Amino acid sequence: MNPQESHLSEARKRFLTIYRQEKYKDAANEIHNLLLNILLKIYTEAKAKATGGIREEIEKTQLEIFGGRDTNNISLKELAALFHKLNILEIAEGNETDRNLLKAFSLMELVDLSEQSLHDSDDRAKKYLFTIYAFVVALLSFNGEVDPTGDTSSTKSNIIDRTFSLNLDTGIMVNPHDLTRNVSFKAVTFSVMIGHICTQVVNKVLAEYNPADLGQNVRQIEESLNTILSESGYNAGSNFGEALTKDFQREAQLSLHQKIKLWCEFDTSVGWGKFEDELIVDESIKRVQGKVVLQSNFLVAEKTRLDFNLCSLMKGYIKGVLEKLLGFSVNVEHKRDSNCAQFNPDKQFCDFLVSEALP
Ligand SMILES: [Zn+2]
Repeated sequence: MNPQESHLSEARKRFLTIYRQEKYKDAANEIHNLLLNILLKIYTEAKAKATGGIREEIEKTQLEIFGGRDTNNISLKELAALFHKLNILEIAEGNETDRNLLKAFSLMELVDLSEQSLHDSDDRAKKYLFTIYAFVVALLSFNGEVDPTGDTSSTKSNIIDRTFSLNLDTGIMVNPHDLTRNVSFKAVTFSVMIGHICTQVVNKVLAEYNPADLGQNVRQIEESLNTILSESGYNAGSNFGEALTKDFQREAQLSLHQKIKLWCEFDTSVGWGKFEDELIVDESIKRVQGKVVLQSNFLVAEKTRLDFNLCSLMKGYIKGVLEKLLGFSVNVEHKRDSNCAQFNPDKQFCDFLVSEALP
């Protein structure tokens, strides 16, 4: 662990401690300095690695913005102006997932908020702190030196300890990436619970039918349940897709493909399984073809072919999100025999086939 890593990690922990003590003005000071220091570190590293024309451009812009002062003597606002002008987050070395996440924020706006919160009352400062913190967590993780959890172990792997912020006074847990309230279930608990509701509905309804018609009725009821699951997933996906679209509007330069990629990264980051898009989108003629592949789909975890399959929920969810992101109607198909991991024990993935809906 080098001294700078330890310094940043300690500052992050200090911020959380002060925040939990509800000293929001002090917390604003802490996060302001932390933001300055992590940006400075990323800038210094990017500059050290730059060569040729990029190096010259960096030195020229630094002189324009900082004059002759060294980097230890500049304000956060000046540093943000430099990041903005040179697009430092684009040229710095870092983790691609976090780079994409960082693009969803406006650095200049965040720095304004941070400056403002230094002069605000506790209550007003509190409003901005989590937004600034979410950005700082993504910066620390992007830089790769400091794990977002504060674990400074330098071994790189694709396993991260995911941080959600829990307020012990209110019992509310927040995902720092989108600042919304989240709850945590064991994956199996959630799907067992929903599966149980479905099985009970089938049994209860069947009890009212003539046993002679049973086979036919089981299929009909299961079909109705799948429609309900799909519509429920669709509503949830549609709401989430709309919220994401609003977030993305602040970043006009994101292509449809980048938006889909960011959505996949988001839902992967909350542990639903690994979403990968294998989609080809032609925005101009409103066409989409391909599939969304979900590895380790939590809805089929520890399920056998005898359990009620919940993939219609995911199918509707994917349709809802994609329609909001793309701005046109799509069809999503998920066939048990060929696309679902629950019915194909050797398959690690659930494939959701996507095409534009015919008019
Ligand atoms: Zn499936």
